Amino acid sequence: MNIAVVGTGYVGLVSGTCFADSGNDITCVDIDENKVKQLRDGEIPIYEPGLKTIFDRSIREGRLRFTTDLEEAVKDAEIIFLCLPTPPGADGQADLSAVLKVAGQLGKMITDYKVIVNKSTVPVGTADRVREAVAENTDAEFDVVSNPEFLREGAAVEDFMKPERVVIGTSSERAAELMTTLYEPFVRSGNPIIVMDERSSELTKYAANAMLATKITFMNEIANICEKVGANVDNIRRGIGTDSRIGKRFLFAGIGYGGSCFPKDVQAIHYTAGQNGYDFKILDSVMKVNEKQKVSIVKKMEDYYGTSDFSGKTFGIWGLSFKPETDDIREAPALYIAEELVERGAKLIAYDPEAIETFKKATTKEVLDNTTFVLNQQDALVDVDALVICTEWNEFRRPTIDRFQDHMKKAVIFDGRNLYDLNRAKKSNITYISVGRPSIN
Ligand code: NAD
Repeated sequence: MNIAVVGTGYVGLVSGTCFADSGNDITCVDIDENKVKQLRDGEIPIYEPGLKTIFDRSIREGRLRFTTDLEEAVKDAEIIFLCLPTPPGADGQADLSAVLKVAGQLGKMITDYKVIVNKSTVPVGTADRVREAVAENTDAEFDVVSNPEFLREGAAVEDFMKPERVVIGTSSERAAELMTTLYEPFVRSGNPIIVMDERSSELTKYAANAMLATKITFMNEIANICEKVGANVDNIRRGIGTDSRIGKRFLFAGIGYGGSCFPKDVQAIHYTAGQNGYDFKILDSVMKVNEKQKVSIVKKMEDYYGTSDFSGKTFGIWGLSFKPETDDIREAPALYIAEELVERGAKLIAYDPEAIETFKKATTKEVLDNTTFVLNQQDALVDVDALVICTEWNEFRRPTIDRFQDHMKKAVIFDGRNLYDLNRAKKSNITYISVGRPSIN
């Protein structure tokens, strides 16, 4: 099939490349000229495991192209995917300006039947608004489909290639058939393609992310209680995760959820509920708890040092991205923690395997002025007063923790991701303060 993908970020680039890998002809469009140039030069602007191999193959075989010219991309396309940003506005409402702008432009360009697919996460009713924006400028036949994306950054290629389900929201049989044909190669193992109406499809994506954010937050609250009553959240996780009604996944306590999706999608569905006269109380609490959880580690540091003045102290930071296997730092707890520590007078030495450059672009001048970035995880330990772990990158899981004291001024670890076994920490003579588990001093 001939397909145009508008917006070549995490979702657009992965979708375009994976569709190309299954034999389709893909043209990706972006307004960012530098990004398009980079892609044309064979460089991938994001870090995503496995992407480079299929990207190179599809380019080599001529199935994947990049342009800034929307008209050129959509001219021969049967399907046009919108993978555009939908950031939160000040009131939490999803900002649809990019989606509606492109929809208006498409109306002026299409002359024969097209399926326009919204892959961006968009509020209920957006398919109708896109339809209106396109129809204003054309008499050509077209359908608008909602096809929310469930990929996880860090495992995006794997998720896209083998989705647990594909959700297609459309009331058009013609569009449903085309979309089903497109996705069939990805669900050969029998996972379902679920066709439903546009509104349910749009809401499905928000419901999924809100549910996951709630699950994380629930466990963080259990962890906070554990700290007060002397229980261990790891034991509770094992105790409840074995109940198949609850399930094992998304039960790890930590320093809160971040990223480009959960925070904004929870806000957006909360806003939609409010707009429709419904007070979505659980999500109100989820957002408030998560805000506090992101910097809860700083409170633990204050308690440990008995002061909120960290002048003269240097802390190592391991992990800047919002989760492992990505360079994405959008809404990453590390951003907030770094700001809080620097505000209290600390100097930082920060390491991340992939996210140093993205972090530098997103953080404040104060943080930049007070942080040394290093290219090796050991270097972030040299002469520091304590190590703060913000992201659970695999390489942080098995360092020789009994050697921490060889590098650090004092072997004190504040672990926001519960990476180490408490017994091992005890034997290693380190001070180890984690989330929802007894502290080791
Ligand atoms: P992104 O910011 O990484 O990429 C968006 C791209 O669109 C950018 O390259 C930008 O330059 C481009 N763009 C903006 N306006 C444009 C225009 N008028 N014409 C052409 N290109 C334009 O965003 P993303 O993370 O890929 O997310 C896109 C959408 O998918 C969002 O709605 C997001 O919520 C949703 N989503 C994201 C993920 C994820 O893990 N990142 C997962 C599922 C769904």
